[in-house]
Amino acid sequence: MRILIKNIKKLLQTYHSNDDVVPLKGQAMKNLPFLENAFVIIDNKRILDFGEMKSLNTEQHFDEEIDATNSLVMPGYVDSHTHLVHATTREDEFVQRIQGASYAEIAANGGGILNSAAKLANCSEDDLYASAWQRLQKAIAMGTTTIEIKSGYGLSVASELKMLRVIARLKENSPIPIKASLLAAHAYPMEYKQNHQGYIDIIINEILPVVAAEQLADYMDVFCEEGFFSVAETSTLLNAAAKYGLKPKIHANQLAASGGVQVGVLHNAISVDHLECVGQAEVDALLNSNTLPVLLPGAAYFLGMHYQPARMLIDAGLPIVLASDYNPGSCPSYNMNTIQSLACTQMKMLPSEALNASTINAACTLELQHEIGVIKKGYRANICILKDVHNEALIPYAFGENLISQVLV
Ligand SMILES: [Zn+2]
Repeated sequence: MRILIKNIKKLLQTYHSNDDVVPLKGQAMKNLPFLENAFVIIDNKRILDFGEMKSLNTEQHFDEEIDATNSLVMPGYVDSHTHLVHATTREDEFVQRIQGASYAEIAANGGGILNSAAKLANCSEDDLYASAWQRLQKAIAMGTTTIEIKSGYGLSVASELKMLRVIARLKENSPIPIKASLLAAHAYPMEYKQNHQGYIDIIINEILPVVAAEQLADYMDVFCEEGFFSVAETSTLLNAAAKYGLKPKIHANQLAASGGVQVGVLHNAISVDHLECVGQAEVDALLNSNTLPVLLPGAAYFLGMHYQPARMLIDAGLPIVLASDYNPGSCPSYNMNTIQSLACTQMKMLPSEALNASTINAACTLELQHEIGVIKKGYRANICILKDVHNEALIPYAFGENLISQVLV
C-alpha cells in the first residue's frame, strides 16, 4: 500500500537520513526543522520519501492520495507516561478535593491509588481490556501514536499480573507501539502499611520473576515519594529489577524533594517523571547523566499544584519530555494537545519546545527514537494531519481544541 500526502503547507520535524536522532537539550529544544509546500510518500506503513512538491516524481503510482493543502503535517505524539488501564473513574475524589481535601489526605484514608486497586481487584481481565482499548482509540484520534502504559493499580501478585496481561493484549492488537512498565511499587497495600519489607519481598520474589519469564514489562517503575517508597526502598527494588534486565523509569519529586531524581540517576534510569519539586541539586544530578526529565503538567493542573520548572531546566541545558500522566486520580485526560497548551501558558515553554518534548524527546524515553518521533526515511509513518493549520503555535494557542483532523498509524 503506497500513500502520497501532497501539497502539505508545512511539514514539521524533517530529518535527513544522516541526521542523528538524539534528545534535544537546552537551546536546541526550540529547533524545529521543517519544509513548506511538501510531500510525504508512505510505503507499507513506513516513510519512503519526503521533500518539496517541486521535486516529486508525478509518474509514480499511488494507491491513495491525501491532499494536505493548507495543512500542517507532523509526527504523532509519543505519550511516554500513562496509567491507561484502570477499572473505574474517581470523580467522587475530585469533588472531595474541590471541597478542600488534599490528594495526600484522600490517599491516607484509603482513597487514591488504593481505591483504584480495590476496584481493579473485582474487575475481569476482559472488562479491563475493553475499557482500556476504548481509551486507546480516543487517544489515537487526538494524535497519540505511541504510548507507555503502567501497572500499579494491582498491588497484589494476581492483580499486577492481570494488569500487565491486559497491557500485553493491547500491545498485540494495537496499531501503535506500546511499552509496558511494572509499577507494583505504586503504593503500599493497606495490610503492608506497617510492613514495607513484606510487600517489597512479594514484588521481588513473586512478581518480578513472572514478569521477566513472561516478558510482561519493558521497564521498572517505583513511586519514590514521602509516604510511598523511600529512596532506600526504591534502590532495593531497582537493583532487583536490574537482575532481570528491567531498566528504571520512575516517579520522582512530585510531592517533595524526596531524593527520587538522584536515586534514578544513580541507577541509570531512562527517565525520572513528575519533578514538581526540584532545585539545583536535582539539575546538577541530571546534567551529569543520560536520564531524561519527564514533566507532567496535566497532573499539576488537575491537582492545583505548582507547575514543574520547565524554563529553569531548559535554561540549565537539560532536555525536557512532556507526557499526559493519564490516570483516574490526578489527570483524567490523555489529550496531548491540552498538554502542549499547559506547557506553553503555565510553564513558559515555546510551542516548538513543547512539540519536541512530546515527539522526538519522548521517543527517546521509550528507546524508540530509531523509528518514531520525527519525519525521516524508514521511520514508522505515524503521522498527524492538521487541516487549516499553518503554524505549530496554533496547537497550544487553540487550547482545549483538537486541531488534528487525520491520524495515520
Ligand atoms: Zn504517573
